[in-house]
Amino acid sequence: MKKNDEFEIDITDIGNEGEGIGKHEGMTLFVKGGLPGDRILAGATKLKKTYGYARLVKVLTPSPFRVTPLCPISEKCGGCQIQSLSYEKQLELKERKITENLIRIGGFSPEFVKEHMDPIVGMEIPFHYRNKAQYPIGTDKNGQPIAGFYAGRTHSIIPNTRCYLGAEENEEILNAVLSYMKENNIPAYDETTGKGLIRHVLIRKGFTTGELMVCLVINHKGYNVKSNTDVEIRKSKQKWLPDQKKLIEGLEKIGGMKSISVNINTENTNVILGKDTYTIWGEPAISDIIHVRDMQRDGYPFTGDALTFNISPLSFYQVNPLQTEKLYSLALEYAGLMGKESVWDLYCGIGTISLFMARKAKQVYGVEIVPQAIDDARENAKRNGITNAEFFVGKAEEVLPEFYEKTNSASDMLHPDVIVVDPPRKGCDEACLSTMLKMQPDRIVYVSCDSATLARDLKTLCEGGYQIKKIRGVDQFGHTVHVETVCLLSKLSVRL
Ligand code: SAH
Repeated sequence: MKKNDEFEIDITDIGNEGEGIGKHEGMTLFVKGGLPGDRILAGATKLKKTYGYARLVKVLTPSPFRVTPLCPISEKCGGCQIQSLSYEKQLELKERKITENLIRIGGFSPEFVKEHMDPIVGMEIPFHYRNKAQYPIGTDKNGQPIAGFYAGRTHSIIPNTRCYLGAEENEEILNAVLSYMKENNIPAYDETTGKGLIRHVLIRKGFTTGELMVCLVINHKGYNVKSNTDVEIRKSKQKWLPDQKKLIEGLEKIGGMKSISVNINTENTNVILGKDTYTIWGEPAISDIIHVRDMQRDGYPFTGDALTFNISPLSFYQVNPLQTEKLYSLALEYAGLMGKESVWDLYCGIGTISLFMARKAKQVYGVEIVPQAIDDARENAKRNGITNAEFFVGKAEEVLPEFYEKTNSASDMLHPDVIVVDPPRKGCDEACLSTMLKMQPDRIVYVSCDSATLARDLKTLCEGGYQIKKIRGVDQFGHTVHVETVCLLSKLSVRL
C-alpha cells in the first residue's frame, strides 16, 4: 500500500478522537468520518510501519448504527465526535474500550474482566446534559459578532448558538449577548491582533435549582487598583463594559438568571479564563443539589440523601449532573461504608465525593492540588453541616507519603478502611500508588476518566496485593468518545 492508494475497508472501531478504525493488508488505518459498521472506500494519506491514516472517499455500505444527528453541524464542530452513531452503539463501544484496555494494558484475562464488569450506566436522554458551556466570541466576514464552537483542532469559530448537548437556555443567553454587542458596537476579541473586548461567554446552570450564571470573559486592561477612585469603580460594579446596563437588561429577564459577572483575561493565550472575576449583577455564585441514588434498583431512585454545592465561575464541577449522581452513588456503594470508617479521598476537587462519603463514615480526608477548590470544599462542608471532613492542599503523591512518614502510628488515617482516588487523565503518580499500598486500606475505589491509565494503575495495585471486585462504566459524555469508569478493589487476605 502506498500514499493515495484507494481501497475498500470495514470500519470496526473508533479511536481516541472519534475517528473510524479498520484494517487493510495488516495495517491499522484511522479514517475520520468512518463509523463502526461502515464499509467505505478510503484513500491512504499517511502511512507508517504498522498503521496509517486515510480519508473517507465514499461510504459504500452505511453502518446499521448510523443515525441522523440532531445537530446539523455535529460533524464539523469539535464539540462532539460521534453524534452520527446510535447512542446504544456508543455505549457498547465505550464498554468495549474499557474492556480492551484492561486486557491489553492491565494484563487481566478477558474472562476475568467479563466476570467482574457490570453493564455501563447510560443516560436516559443523551442530549442537553451539560451544565456548563464556554462559547468563543468572534466576528464574521461582515463584521458582525458571532458565538459558536471551534472546528475540530482549529480556532476558527463555527457560528452556532444551539448546542444539543448544552442547556436549552444557552441560546437565549447568547442571543442577548450578541444583540447587546451589535446594538452598542461592542467589538469581539481578535486573537491575532489582541484587540477587541469580548472573548468568551461562560454559562453554567444548576440543573436541580434552575439557577443560571453568565460570565463574560473580557480583554479589559483593568483599573489601577492603587487609586481609591478605581477601587470605588470596581466596588460600584458599574464600569467593566460600555453600556453595561443594556447587557444586564437583556440577561436579567431570562428565567433563572442568578449571577452575571465579568472575568478579566488580557493574555494572548488559549487559556479561557483569567484569574479575576467581578460580579456585575446578582450573586457571585449559583448553587446546585446532588442526590444520592440507589444503584441497585431499576431507574436508580433517590435515597433521600442530598448535598448542596456552591458553584462559582472558576470552580470545578462535574459537567453532567445527572450522571454524576450515578457515578458518585456507585463510588459510595463500592466504598461500603457503615458509619465507622476512615476514608481518604485523593484528587477531591471541591470535595463532592468526600462529602458524599463523610455522611456515611467516621472521618474523611480530602487531598487536592488547587487551593481554590479546597476553599470551596471547606465551604461546601460547612454548607451541608458536615464536620468530619478535613481537606489538604497539595499533590496526592506528596501529601499522602508525607502523612504516612510523619504521622504517629495511632492515627486511624494511616491505615484507613477506604481510599478513593479520582485522578485526571494521566492517572495516579507512582509515589501515590506505592503509599496507598503501604497504607493497606481494606478497599480502594478508583474513579477514572481514562481507562488506559486506569488499567495501568490497576495492574500496579493488583501486583501489590489487591484484587478487582467490580468494574462499571458510567457515560458522562454522550456523543463524545470519553467515558468514566468506577472500580472496586479489595485487599487480598493473604499478601503475595
Ligand atoms: N473528585 C472531584 C474532582 C475530580 S477531577 C470531582 O468529582 O469533582 C481531578 C482533580 O484532581 C482536579 O480537581 C485536579 O485539580 C486534581 N489534581 C490534579 N493533579 C493532582 C495531584 N497531583 N494531586 C492532587 N490533586 C490533583
